[in-house]
Amino acid sequence: VARAGALLTGLLVLMLSVLSSVVTARDKQLAAQDSQLGIVLGQQLGILESYFERARTIDALLAANPVFTDFYRAPGTNDAKIRAGGPLIDRVNEALAYLEELYPGRIGEACFIDSSGAEIARVVDGVRAAPADLSQDEDANPFFAPTLAFGEGRVYQAKMYKSPDTHNEVISNSTVITAGGHTGIVHYEIALDTFRMTDSGNGVAASIVDADTGHTILDSRTQGIAGATTDQSWATMIQRGLAAEVTTVQDRRVAYRRLPVTDGNANNWYVAVSAPQFGLGWTRGLGVKSLALLAAALLTIIVSGASWVGHLRSVRRLASYDPLTGLPNRTLFTQRLQAALRPGRGAAVLLIDLERFKEVNDALGYRYGDQLLQQVARRLTAELPATTVARLGGDDFAVLLPGRHGDDVRTAEAAADQILAVLHRTFTVEGTGMDLEASIGVAWSAEPGLSAEALLRHADAAMNRAKEHHTGRETYDPTDEQHSPHRLQLLGDLRRAIESEDQILVHYQPKVDLETGRAAGVEALVRWEHPEQGCLMPDTFIPLAENTTLIRGLTARVLDIAVRQAKCWLDQGRPVPVAVNLSTRCLLDATLPDHVFDLLTSVGLPTSLLELEITESTAMADPDRARSILHALHEGGIRLSIDDFGTGHSSMAYLQQLPVDELKIDRSFVAQMIDSEGSAVLVRTAITLGHNLGLLVVAEGVETADMVAALRDLGCDIAQGYHYSRPVSAPDVERWLANCPGYDPARRAA
Ligand code: C2E
Ligand code: CA
Ligand code: CA
Repeated sequence: VARAGALLTGLLVLMLSVLSSVVTARDKQLAAQDSQLGIVLGQQLGILESYFERARTIDALLAANPVFTDFYRAPGTNDAKIRAGGPLIDRVNEALAYLEELYPGRIGEACFIDSSGAEIARVVDGVRAAPADLSQDEDANPFFAPTLAFGEGRVYQAKMYKSPDTHNEVISNSTVITAGGHTGIVHYEIALDTFRMTDSGNGVAASIVDADTGHTILDSRTQGIAGATTDQSWATMIQRGLAAEVTTVQDRRVAYRRLPVTDGNANNWYVAVSAPQFGLGWTRGLGVKSLALLAAALLTIIVSGASWVGHLRSVRRLASYDPLTGLPNRTLFTQRLQAALRPGRGAAVLLIDLERFKEVNDALGYRYGDQLLQQVARRLTAELPATTVARLGGDDFAVLLPGRHGDDVRTAEAAADQILAVLHRTFTVEGTGMDLEASIGVAWSAEPGLSAEALLRHADAAMNRAKEHHTGRETYDPTDEQHSPHRLQLLGDLRRAIESEDQILVHYQPKVDLETGRAAGVEALVRWEHPEQGCLMPDTFIPLAENTTLIRGLTARVLDIAVRQAKCWLDQGRPVPVAVNLSTRCLLDATLPDHVFDLLTSVGLPTSLLELEITESTAMADPDRARSILHALHEGGIRLSIDDFGTGHSSMAYLQQLPVDELKIDRSFVAQMIDSEGSAVLVRTAITLGHNLGLLVVAEGVETADMVAALRDLGCDIAQGYHYSRPVSAPDVERWLANCPGYDPARRAA
């Protein structure tokens, strides 16, 4: 931000300085231009004003000339005198011709007119008119009446008109002569063109403008008389009604002044001097230096702007893309996923984990690892070109597939299989062939309103399952709540519960010898006194704990409580074997036997009073490992029992090799043995099998006296179930035991 700020400030200062120098130059130019306009205006005004002065001089000159009064004083009619000719009329003509000689080229016509309207003499361009050519109706001319009305000793300047004699645009001057009772007019024309200034060639125009019509009469740049040419800019000038001003009219600087209104002048004129239009003026105002500066400033802005944009783009790229593979990173992927999960839409996510990637990195180095990742990225994008393929970090890749129907999840699974096939083709990095295993988790937005994080978590859970079970691809099952926040919360609570003194409780359920009716032992069953949720049964938290290492701590707690309780009963003179349930994970823990024996030793309970229950599937998960642990326990004198028999898929041969002492028929078969022939067969078979293997057979879930009778008939050894007692607290089980013939260690041994 600081860098951008400094750059922008610099640019701003540069621009401002360029602009101010441009404006200064421009102001200077304007001032110079205005003063030039003032000079030209003065010149044009001078020309006109000197004309008016001359007009008065001529007036005086003519009025003082006695030839006109002499003519009138001579006897006879005007006509007679004209026709008679001679010196009288010659002197009149000479005086008129002299006027022309005095101002050659300016005055083209001069005449002497009687007040009757008849011409007495006329000279045009130095040529006197023949008496026959003299006009008789000069009184029709617009100057005639005003001149007569104006009176002696004054000059009337008529409005511009086209001379009938010279055919030039002219203005005329006329003055009255009186003598011998006669009145006449001396009249002469001046060509308008003679007021024209020579064009300066720098675009400055001097114009004479008729204030009444707004027409340009004369313009220094054009030849001839403009006449009816209208110029809009003069309209504004005239409208303002000012006598003089220097102003800007239609992009031009204009200096103008109105001619003073004088008596007897019919012409209402402005003199206006205008500069060329600004368009050109501006660039001329910019010196080479300021132009170069401006160009440099613009260039700097463009270059820095472009580099800034590039910088921003690369920053954005870095923030959203993985530099190694060029794929979108987790941030961008999550953003796109969020967009895809907008209401009414949905998406499937594939999370891909490369199983053996770490080995490649470790064995061959990061250079190979990096190249391998790049190749993986290329294969993925080539395989699914229209979708978002992202690298979430390390060897984790993700694919986003839009869609929200059940069918879409099939498509996603198909895409996952496609990816698996592609990744299973050998990679070659610098000549070395490498084979990768991949696990893919598929999750889709089955429920509306699912967040991107939740969907990614689901895909992650599915991927972990694929890894665990080596299936390659797994799809998240929404009913599998394993990863819900609720579960996570419960796991946290459980961890604290195991550490606490009072939350983990153990209830006990008696087992009864079917032949003698004596107590055959008790099974320890865990209960969790949750601070908020109350007493929780094992189904709600054991499966959860089994997925984590918490199960070890929990089992240790139960073992500890049960062993101490058994010792307590032993000390009370009531030896009862206690059975504790073990989970799969416990059987993978090689330290378990030592732990158990250490506990028994420290508490002082004989090994014969502890039983451990394992399920078939537990023993089958990793048979070799489980077997060595079970052997260690068995050899140490601890009785082992196969729990939930009938629900797993154990092989008879394998069962035979396990060092077990007891077989517990699952309560689902026991419960149905009365009603269902199949269950009855299974119970009978299990009993026979157990006996053939030399094992004690226990029936779980015995709820009625009928079942007890049936089991006794089948030769079942021990029964356990609500018929005898529910799992109850230690004091309650003590009360139960008090009402029942005691446990007989001798029988067990037999
Ligand atoms: P399980 O080992 O099969 O334990 C016997 C279950 O059957 C007990 O359920 C018990 O209450 C129930 N039961 C006993 N008699 C009857 C009957 O007549 N009818 C019916 N319907 N049920 C009967 P509980 O206490 O809910 O325990 C459930 C399971 O949780 C146990 O099944 C065991 O697998 C597991 N479990 C309990 N405590 C522990 C423990 O400390 N560690 C481990 N790893 N698992 C435990
Ligand atoms: Ca059990
Ligand atoms: Ca059981």
